Amino acid sequence: MNRRLTLALPSKGRLREPSWSLLEASGVSPQEPGERVLQSHCRNADIDLLFVRADDVPEYVQDGVVDCGITGLDLIHERECDVEVLLRLGFGSCSLQAAVPMEDDATRIEDLDGRRIATSHPNIAAKMLADRGVKAEIVRVAGSVEISPRLGLADAIIDLVSTGSTLRTNGLRSVGVLFESEAVLVGRAGSVDHEARRILTMVLGSVVNARANRYLLCNVSKDRLKEVTALLPTSGSPTVMDLATPGVVAVHALVPAADIWRLLPKLEACGASSILTLPVERMVP
Ligand code: AMP
Repeated sequence: MNRRLTLALPSKGRLREPSWSLLEASGVSPQEPGERVLQSHCRNADIDLLFVRADDVPEYVQDGVVDCGITGLDLIHERECDVEVLLRLGFGSCSLQAAVPMEDDATRIEDLDGRRIATSHPNIAAKMLADRGVKAEIVRVAGSVEISPRLGLADAIIDLVSTGSTLRTNGLRSVGVLFESEAVLVGRAGSVDHEARRILTMVLGSVVNARANRYLLCNVSKDRLKEVTALLPTSGSPTVMDLATPGVVAVHALVPAADIWRLLPKLEACGASSILTLPVERMVP
C-alpha cells in the first residue's frame, strides 16, 4: 500500500534531540521544526510528523493513531502495548536497575525478596521481579525515586540508570540490572503492507548502522597484507588496491567504531601507514 506515513516523535525530554537529529541525518527532516510545533511533515518524504510525549507513543502506535513512532523500549514494556519493534536506534541507552542504600546487606536482586521497592516503572519492575521469582511490595512513586529509601518509603528502588551518578549522589548502590533499554522505532503490530514504513525503517537503519562504523584506509607492504587483513572484521572482505609505489597496497575496510581503539596500535605494529578513519553517512548491508 502506498500512502502517507504518520510518525510520532518525542516532543520533549531526553529522546527529543537525538530523534530529531536522526531524522535530519536521514534526510527526512521536519519542515517546520520548533519548540511549539505539534504537527509537521517531512521535506523529502511522504511522512507526517506528530510531536507527543515519549510515554504516549506506544499507545498512539498500538491504537493506530499513527503508523510508527520513536520511543524507549522500557516505555513499551511499561505501557504493556502491543507494538512491533522495527529498529533499535542506538541512542537513549539505559538500564532498569535495582538499588539499595550503601549500608544495606543486599548484593543481588534476589535479596530483595519480601522487601518494599519504590519505582516509577511499576509494571515492568513487577514483571522482571516475578520472572526471577522475587516477591516484593512495589511502592509507586511519580518521581525522585532515589530519595524513597531515605524517606522511609521503601527499602530499595528500581529505576532507569545510564551513568550511575544519580545513584551514587543519593548514597545508593546497584544490586543488578533487570532490563536493558534504548530508543526504538515501533510500528503497529501486524501492519506489514505499508511500503513507506518499510522504506522509513531501511533509511533510518542505514544511518544507525553507519554511525556505528568507520571507513578505514591504510597503506601496507604486500608481504604484511595477510597480517593486516587478519585484524579486520571477517564480515565484508576488505578492498585491496595496488599503489604507484611497487610492493605497497592500500587497504580499505568498514570497521566497528568501537574497535578503532583496539585496532590502530595493531595496524601500526604491522607496519601500516597513512591510516585514515572516516565517518560513514549511510550503510545498507
Ligand atoms: P523523558 O522522561 O521524556 O526524558 O524520557 C525518558 C526516556 O529516556 C526513558 O523512558 C528511557 O527510554 C530514556 N532514558 C535514557 N537514559 C535515561 C535515564 N538515565 N533515566 C531515565 N530515562 C532514560
